[in-house]
Amino acid sequence: MRFLIVSFDGLRPDLVAPDLTPNLCRLQAYGITLSNHRTVYPSETRSAFPSFVTGSTTSRHGMVGNKYVDRSVTPSRYIDTADEVLLRKLDLESGGRLMSTQTLGEILASDGRSLAVLATNSPGTTRFFHHKAEDFRQVRLSGHFRGACTPDDLLAEAEELLGPLLPDPPSTEPDKAGQDWITSAFLEVVWPKYRPDVTVLSYGEPDITSHFHGTGAEATRSIIAHCDRQFGRVLDWWEAEGRAEGVQVIAISDHGHITGQTQVSVVDSLRRAGYRPGTAPALDVDVVVVPGQVGALYLADPSDERVARIVATITGEPWCGPVFTQAKNETEGIAPGSLGKHLVFIDHSRAPDVSFSFRANDSIDPFGLVGGTFYEDNLCLGVHGGLHPKELAALGIIAGSAFPAAGSVSTTPSGICDFAPTILHLLRIAQPGSMTGRVLTEIVEPRHKAAPEIRSEAFDVGLGRFRQVLRRVHVGPSTYIESGTAEG
Ligand SMILES: [Zn+2]
Repeated sequence: MRFLIVSFDGLRPDLVAPDLTPNLCRLQAYGITLSNHRTVYPSETRSAFPSFVTGSTTSRHGMVGNKYVDRSVTPSRYIDTADEVLLRKLDLESGGRLMSTQTLGEILASDGRSLAVLATNSPGTTRFFHHKAEDFRQVRLSGHFRGACTPDDLLAEAEELLGPLLPDPPSTEPDKAGQDWITSAFLEVVWPKYRPDVTVLSYGEPDITSHFHGTGAEATRSIIAHCDRQFGRVLDWWEAEGRAEGVQVIAISDHGHITGQTQVSVVDSLRRAGYRPGTAPALDVDVVVVPGQVGALYLADPSDERVARIVATITGEPWCGPVFTQAKNETEGIAPGSLGKHLVFIDHSRAPDVSFSFRANDSIDPFGLVGGTFYEDNLCLGVHGGLHPKELAALGIIAGSAFPAAGSVSTTPSGICDFAPTILHLLRIAQPGSMTGRVLTEIVEPRHKAAPEIRSEAFDVGLGRFRQVLRRVHVGPSTYIESGTAEG
């Protein structure tokens, strides 16, 4: 049995439809659609894909956001995980502890099996899919970034057959050529030459185009249709050859998108409140505001009193959504008005002192899609990172001989952490204890297993007029975050 995971970065599952994505719909007819499927918090690419490869939440793998402050060194340093050279350096410097848990690539390699990666995402995201591929002499190909590719002779062979890697287009221009190149590289080079046990084919779109043009914009719909056509080439191969060779196909996305409505500046708000904020650690900075759609505040003095003071400041702002700090008890954080970080599984040593989302709502955007929010980045129209259900919603479709209920829909809650345990289970490889995801028994063995027990819960806390509510759902041993809302 082999696995092919095809990822569409930032694709909202409610955009899957016969007119826009006929090939994803073709896969749905063969397989099972996970209709109650979610990513992790924060709903950022370089937290979600580490969760995919480790089968665990942010609190376990330690990739607490696309960017974070590393306080394990003096002076503290700002880390942008889009930089794959930096990721490699951090991993080597730490004796292989860039991620705090084992990844799918490492687990497969220790069992004598292979993981191959082909991706058009950022160089850092591409590395995250198999960050030690070179150590195991396995395949990691980027559609744009030579430095993220290994081994060299495979890249040379692919370029000779398919043409040279093309530069990453400007962010405002949908990336069509990159998707074509990696699809061809899989079909014409990697599969015929290596027949990997597990392959990740990751389209970096529609995420970039959705950021710069809007989630339902014509340009975004056009690149979704383009990625779907490339996926159609993969499905043609699967029907002709892959399926008979035992390949299971899993289509995923890492998060959704909602629409940025009102732009704010957290740095300006904090400066007005008397802080000395900055976007990277420096001597004259008392709070680092990590740029991005999920708020991360690292204080120079993270005492309980200082954390409480800054939470009191931000919860008085109209843009402030759910807020999390170090746990004080089973529910609350140390700062009044905040919930404990553990409830959203970000309690790792790299996590910020204060993590917050921008306040979101269920308004209908100009494209007819649900979900709007305050936002910070001045270039973005579509955004993600927070706890709106449409940011957390992710694509999940599974098809192949291991999943018997063809053409069906599973409404049992599931998440991005569940794929690695399910793949290992089907390959009969032991699942490490670090994994927080679960084997999707309801679709692997639907006739033999009792339906898993499902239990919902809500946590609410307030400060003055500010109130926030976090909703979660448990399925067996796993917990999924459904939403976080705030008002006041
Ligand atoms: Zn993403």
